[in-house]
Amino acid sequence: MAKARRDVVDGPPELKGLTVSELGEAMESLGGKRYRGQQLYDAMYIHNIDDIDDVKVLPAELRQAISQNLRLHSVELQTVQTSDDGTLKYLFRLYDGRQIESVLIPSEMRVADGVPRRRTLCVSTQVGCNLGCAFCATATLNLQRNLTAGEIVDQYLAVARHSGLEITNVVFMGMGEPMNNYDNVMRATEIFNDQRTNMAAPRRTTLSTAGVVPGIERMADEGQLIKLAVSLHATTQGAREQLMPIAKRWPLPRLMDALEYYYKKTRKKVTYEYIVFDGFNDSAEDVRRLARIAKRVPSKVNVIPFHDIGFTRPEGFAAQLRPASPERFEAFLQELRDEGVLVLVRSSSGHDIDAACGQLALSEGDAA
Ligand code: SF4
Repeated sequence: MAKARRDVVDGPPELKGLTVSELGEAMESLGGKRYRGQQLYDAMYIHNIDDIDDVKVLPAELRQAISQNLRLHSVELQTVQTSDDGTLKYLFRLYDGRQIESVLIPSEMRVADGVPRRRTLCVSTQVGCNLGCAFCATATLNLQRNLTAGEIVDQYLAVARHSGLEITNVVFMGMGEPMNNYDNVMRATEIFNDQRTNMAAPRRTTLSTAGVVPGIERMADEGQLIKLAVSLHATTQGAREQLMPIAKRWPLPRLMDALEYYYKKTRKKVTYEYIVFDGFNDSAEDVRRLARIAKRVPSKVNVIPFHDIGFTRPEGFAAQLRPASPERFEAFLQELRDEGVLVLVRSSSGHDIDAACGQLALSEGDAA
């Protein structure tokens, strides 16, 4: 039992988040055989079995010992909201009563039958966040705690069970800064990426950071195979500091050096996220500076429309942030393309249910 991870949550140790060998040790500590760990691993992550009593491959006494000493569920589904565009937003309760959200986003519809080619699950990695980005609703919650690896993995399993849909991609882009919970995020990644679980291959798993330089360098040093996205959102140090206080700690030149280091070590493209704000980061100079940044290492830029955050922090600098007009947004895209930048438009799905980028804040309407 000693190896079962409790992390920061009280209560019985979690099973989700454990590897095959850790599960084997946990089974031994309950008087079972070590190979039962593999059976339990498959039951949880491959067959997504919901109730330990349904893991019939395990002897009844062992099942009973598991249910008395360990915890199969790390998250408990509270509510689900459906957006007009098919996006699903899930509210989960954690063992300690805290809440988090995950969002399942259908994308790239097949022309023939209108069925999504990809379904991306955006998972949370922390309860709240302390990085204070001006455009972000999660920031209003402050940081309450890191999620355990089990709580990260269980978001996927609970959504897959509830929706009955195939999840093709995972992005660490929900509540929290994943680099500030690096070990648990990478432990969850190992389970997502395991070929046996078939949850999400590394090329279909993306970690999105606000620019935590040591985390980027660590990913490079460890040769992590998952993709890296960076929330850039501004092209000068001053503007970035206004939007994202973390820029004071890790200034733009230092961030760019880290990304160059990352590319040299991994040869993997970087994705930049860029929300367009009216009159703040959408000028012709911004286009030129963004193009220079984007060309520093092979990259693509996801350009995202902003959805007003009047519902979150209508005070100070944040209150001045406005969406660019559709015309200016289109022109911005074209100017970037003319500079030779690989540009994609990320539609920021589900904004009618506050599930869009930066909107996850456990709005009162969600709480069960
Ligand atoms: S955008 Fe991400 S890093 Fe910034 S405050 Fe929100 S959750 Fe934290």
